[in-house]
Amino acid sequence: MQVNRETFNDVMVPNYNPAAMVPVRGQGSRVWDQENVEYIDFAGGIAVNVLGHCHPALTSALLEQGNKLWHLSNVFTNEPALRLAAKLVDATFADKVYFANSGAEANEAALKLARRFMLDHHDEGKDEIIAFKQGFHGRTFFTVTVGGQPAYSDGFGPKPGGIIHGEYGNLAMLEDMMSNKTCAVMMEPMQGEGGIIVPEPEFVKGVRALCDKHNALLIFDEVQSGMGRTGKLFEYMNLDVTPDILTSAKSLGGGFPIGAMLTTAKIAESLKPGTHGSTYGGNPLACAVAEAAFDVINQQEVLDGVLLKEALFREHLARINNKYEVFTEIRGKGMLLGCALNEKYKGRARDFMVAANNEGLMCLVAGMNVVRFAPSLVIPEEDIIEGLARFEKGIAKLVSTPSDSK
Ligand SMILES: *Cc1c(COP(=O)(O)O)cnc(C)c1O
Repeated sequence: MQVNRETFNDVMVPNYNPAAMVPVRGQGSRVWDQENVEYIDFAGGIAVNVLGHCHPALTSALLEQGNKLWHLSNVFTNEPALRLAAKLVDATFADKVYFANSGAEANEAALKLARRFMLDHHDEGKDEIIAFKQGFHGRTFFTVTVGGQPAYSDGFGPKPGGIIHGEYGNLAMLEDMMSNKTCAVMMEPMQGEGGIIVPEPEFVKGVRALCDKHNALLIFDEVQSGMGRTGKLFEYMNLDVTPDILTSAKSLGGGFPIGAMLTTAKIAESLKPGTHGSTYGGNPLACAVAEAAFDVINQQEVLDGVLLKEALFREHLARINNKYEVFTEIRGKGMLLGCALNEKYKGRARDFMVAANNEGLMCLVAGMNVVRFAPSLVIPEEDIIEGLARFEKGIAKLVSTPSDSK
């Protein structure tokens, strides 16, 4: 059966607008499309393909587990899930792990747990969730309402209640919003979808202190920032601020769908048998791949390599910007970087992404004004250099073409 990009319009729900080319094969940080055109991948499946495409450790874990046992449901536990949970507990503040299938599901579990914990330990009414504008936590109705972009949660009828939003970075505002009704503060320790916004460390420390003062839980959504992307296993380790609940997904499975919620033993007690669950969560196939990804990522050379690669990106991006003057700054950390467009190119991030794609580079946007890179943590230097050369070619064409958006 012949299928192509046209088929998408015929048979798929139109909620996405995928690129014109259809990738069919990937190896490391290179991808080939139906016409066998080669691309360098700085998109990483939106910060998912943490070890590139078809990394041998992940492929062999998948094949090995695929010949052994795929799925059981949580009526039975399984060895890969137990091993992965033990490794996550060993490497982090957490004592307990809950597995889900996506970032949104991990966050949904975190929010439900926070509400239930407060019911167990405080008077009724301590149920207010505080999150931040421009934050992103997934697309289930609870998580998208907690997310700070009303455009994503509007138009679906009555929203889950007890959710308010502060300004990311504004500690005084948060202080005014918090009270004995505050159940939890949910935040990304570095905003991804919102435009790659790195907070002041003092802000994050202040959020922790306010949560302590008001007996509220601090939930870090590390779905995008976690699993080595910022040079530490999780970004909270860079910030020296420990959350009460942490969620992971995206890079956690290296391309296989899985999410996780991590928390302390005391808080975990509130998810008693029957309170929450999932048919697939923690299935052996997903956990076997995630365990293999964890083993590769959680090595000092790999984590240190992330920072060396970041330096290479920044050096070349600064050179490109000297020549073409398109960015105000390069933001982010490690292998999660954002090129913020200046006034002249405001609103045109998608044009940059398409221009790059036309030169054989896959990248992302984060909002209208930021071009985002989320490549593999083990991307070879030569692929970084070649990818940025292609990016430069795209920019050269874009700046020499009169804008049609004006
Ligand atoms: C992508 C993302 C999510 C949602 O993850 P899904 O797997 O798409 O449900 C949640 N939070 C953050 C910070 C994300 O970047």
